[in-house]
Amino acid sequence: MKRRCWVEIDLKQLKQNYITYTGACSQRVLAVVKADAYGHGAIRCARALQEAGCNEWAVSCLSEALELRNAGIKGFLLILGYTPAKFADVLIENDITQALVDEEHAESFLGTGVKVQFAINTGMNRIGLNSDNPDETASIIRKYAGKLNLNGIFTHLCVADTPSEDEFTKNQLSRFKAVAERISDLNLPYIHCMNTAGGLSREPYGSFVRLGISLYGLRPDTCFKIPDGIKPVIKWKVFVATVFKVKTGETIGYGRTFKADRDMDVATITVGYADGLSRSLSNKGYAFLNNKKCPIVGRVCMDQTMIDVTGLKIRQGDEIELLNEYYTAEEMARDCNTISYEIVSGITKRVEREYVS
Ligand SMILES: *Cc1c(COP(=O)(O)O)cnc(C)c1O
Repeated sequence: MKRRCWVEIDLKQLKQNYITYTGACSQRVLAVVKADAYGHGAIRCARALQEAGCNEWAVSCLSEALELRNAGIKGFLLILGYTPAKFADVLIENDITQALVDEEHAESFLGTGVKVQFAINTGMNRIGLNSDNPDETASIIRKYAGKLNLNGIFTHLCVADTPSEDEFTKNQLSRFKAVAERISDLNLPYIHCMNTAGGLSREPYGSFVRLGISLYGLRPDTCFKIPDGIKPVIKWKVFVATVFKVKTGETIGYGRTFKADRDMDVATITVGYADGLSRSLSNKGYAFLNNKKCPIVGRVCMDQTMIDVTGLKIRQGDEIELLNEYYTAEEMARDCNTISYEIVSGITKRVEREYVS
């Protein structure tokens, strides 16, 4: 539609990332499509991944799960976060597996017949059964295995992308394996513990890797290596609204935080923090005219942003890129002190998603 501010998602590259990763980690891959597929659009991404052979999915909540089911996405579907048991009927109707965050949560699902999996806390301290004593953890799982429709257990690694924390990750994995071994006779079909970073840096273990960030072509951490051929699938584009001159000594934008130390050409572009362009990129981030870097000048506004285009041939209606091959979500993240996950998942609803395949 290209009305004002849009992202272009390359579905062919998304499929390529899935295939490349699957080959590199020599394991099955479950696609993590939570948060609207990290901002890329869950339905279109899941359909493309389905074509590439993916049949297993994870999301963060019930509404995300229902969005996929309503779009006709089939296969194993897991909700990774808390859902109250009062939604048991909807979970059953839509064949959704719910993660259990603790024993109290498990109690609330007794008698419902909902497919469930225990989260196991191996050191992240977010959700899951304590695993300090694997015998006790196993006996809790065993106690509920007969009473709940239990189809698996999983844990989450919190520093698998950090080489200096190798010992901690090893410990998390051995805790998880200790629990899994003690309940192996239950023959639960889904035992899983790897995210993007774990799947690439560790011996394969479990039913599949839960692949998130690298599906979208980004690294879990910039010190981390991902296989060649995995590339970002998102470009973020906007229009030039107006181009004008600013003289030495004038200031630009709210708060007058930018003062011109020379005569400049400035363009106002059709994006702001209400689109997900972080306000902390004020006087720090960049936009691109092809491969030409145009620094953001002044504060990012709600719907508009000013950039320095001095010396460039540029006019009203031209397309400007915020994310592209020269400036990826990783680089934007570095410029505003966050991670690429937050950049892409933070692109808001009013930014149109366009798909190329
Ligand atoms: C988000 C998430 C993942 C995916 O992690 P990536 O680093 O994006 O691969 C896997 N497992 C759980 C439990 C998650 O919450």
